[in-house]
Amino acid sequence: MTAPTVKLLIDGQFVESTAHHWREVINPASQEVLARVPLCGADEVDLAVAAAKRAFPAWRATSLAERARVFLRLQALIREHMDTLAATLTGEQGKTLADARGDVFRGLEVVEHACAVGTLQMGEFAENVAGGVDTYAIRQPLGVCAGITPFNFPAMIPLWMFPMACVLGNTFVLKPSEQDPLTPMLLAELAQQAGLPPGVLNVVHGAADAVNAICDHPDIKAISFVGSVGVGRHVYERGTAHGKRVQAMLGAKNHAVFLPDANKEQALNALVGAAFGAAGQRCMATSVAVLVGAAREWIPDIVARAQTLKVNAGHEAGADLGPLINLQARVRVEKLIGQGVEEGAKLELDGRNPQVAGYEQGNFVGPTIFSGVKPEMHIYREEIFGPVLCIVEVDTLAEAIEFVNANPYGNGTAIFTQSGAAARTFQHDVDVGQVGINVPIPVPVPFFSFTGSRGSRLGDLGPYGKEVVRFYTHTKTVTARWFDDAATAGPVNTTIALR
Ligand code: NAD
Repeated sequence: MTAPTVKLLIDGQFVESTAHHWREVINPASQEVLARVPLCGADEVDLAVAAAKRAFPAWRATSLAERARVFLRLQALIREHMDTLAATLTGEQGKTLADARGDVFRGLEVVEHACAVGTLQMGEFAENVAGGVDTYAIRQPLGVCAGITPFNFPAMIPLWMFPMACVLGNTFVLKPSEQDPLTPMLLAELAQQAGLPPGVLNVVHGAADAVNAICDHPDIKAISFVGSVGVGRHVYERGTAHGKRVQAMLGAKNHAVFLPDANKEQALNALVGAAFGAAGQRCMATSVAVLVGAAREWIPDIVARAQTLKVNAGHEAGADLGPLINLQARVRVEKLIGQGVEEGAKLELDGRNPQVAGYEQGNFVGPTIFSGVKPEMHIYREEIFGPVLCIVEVDTLAEAIEFVNANPYGNGTAIFTQSGAAARTFQHDVDVGQVGINVPIPVPVPFFSFTGSRGSRLGDLGPYGKEVVRFYTHTKTVTARWFDDAATAGPVNTTIALR
């Protein structure tokens, strides 16, 4: 039986692509071919952008309340279809069902927040800035915006993008990861059911060609990108060179610092969950543990806890972590583990070649732990994006902060301590955009914004929250004076001053 094809969404219709090149969507645990996805070129991106451009004037003119109602319906539909969304997500991406529900849920929270567009899009007003003159600022949508998403959160990250862009009055072209496009397509179907008018959301598929066509397209005003550093830099440079706004959220190396006064049980549970959950394929995964002073004695406890985790297909009961996304990723992670050994790090726990009954062909790597890691080693320098934890040891909090700040990435970090003073010093001095205090993965809720920094982002404004309202809108200021019919003419004002 041939696998079903993944459709495009253009102008409200789910249509077959005419692309010449296709790839398979593969279940990473079983290697079953789930679907075939087209690798679109510039011609199909043009169709999607044209539909979005046609839809823009009417959607921009739709009232805030009506736009909000669409997203109120969408949030209800996502809740109603949570089980199907999570099962589809686990099937194509590999993460456990519980984590897949978390992936959908963190995106759902953004949809809920989008429903508050009435206050989010509100402008500012200053009365009587000069005699009888008022100034006000209004936030207007940009036009056609685009989103390019990674494989690791196929629900949450598309939902970071199109709900906020569209509720603010823009129209949108989404290009999901070609590795797991089925979940984003379910979300697009739900958005149509929710009453999003034809052309407001369009979906194309593919990889470099589709992305480059988005970067170059003269009718696209803004691009949201989430993915790896290399591709993100390319999209940022190519998109901005064409005059677009681009926000690019990139890769990471996230450190968690453990002080000896931390609540040890809570801290170690948090570490093991954050290092190995989702098989380490989270941009906010804890990939480096910095043990301070006497906390260095905790290495055996960390290893023992990691050994309790069950590696299995994501839909199997009791699975704690599933497979990596593809065979290439597995080979790369295994190679990096080999390099860590060669470069002299101590392999405390080796997760290579776990036996997973019934899924012998799956892309599995189990929890892996290195101690004695040095900054020059490959396992420290590279984002491994697998279930591999590097442990480093330092004597003081000041050294720990210096170590974290010397790393080029700035996505997330955390400190575990019972000392408010130590936590406050860390929060103040650490040069990382998202900080957790006894919280391992400090991804902010949607009233705030995602604020990864330094090597983990390009562009000033981050996804969702207040920052994305500014990203997806122009601010227009109006300075207005109204005359009474009875007003008499005064002198001509030849200065720039308002009187
Ligand atoms: P990726 O960069 O390979 O792919 C991201 C997108 O770019 C996909 O849609 C893909 O089709 C497209 N793409 C791939 N190669 C391309 C090319 N040569 N030219 C143009 N476009 C191309 O990333 P990924 O492997 O899907 O996702 C994992 C990465 O994403 C990790 O580095 C992770 O840290 C990062 N990430 C960052 C955040 C964040 O918020 N900072 C969140 C999630 C993931």
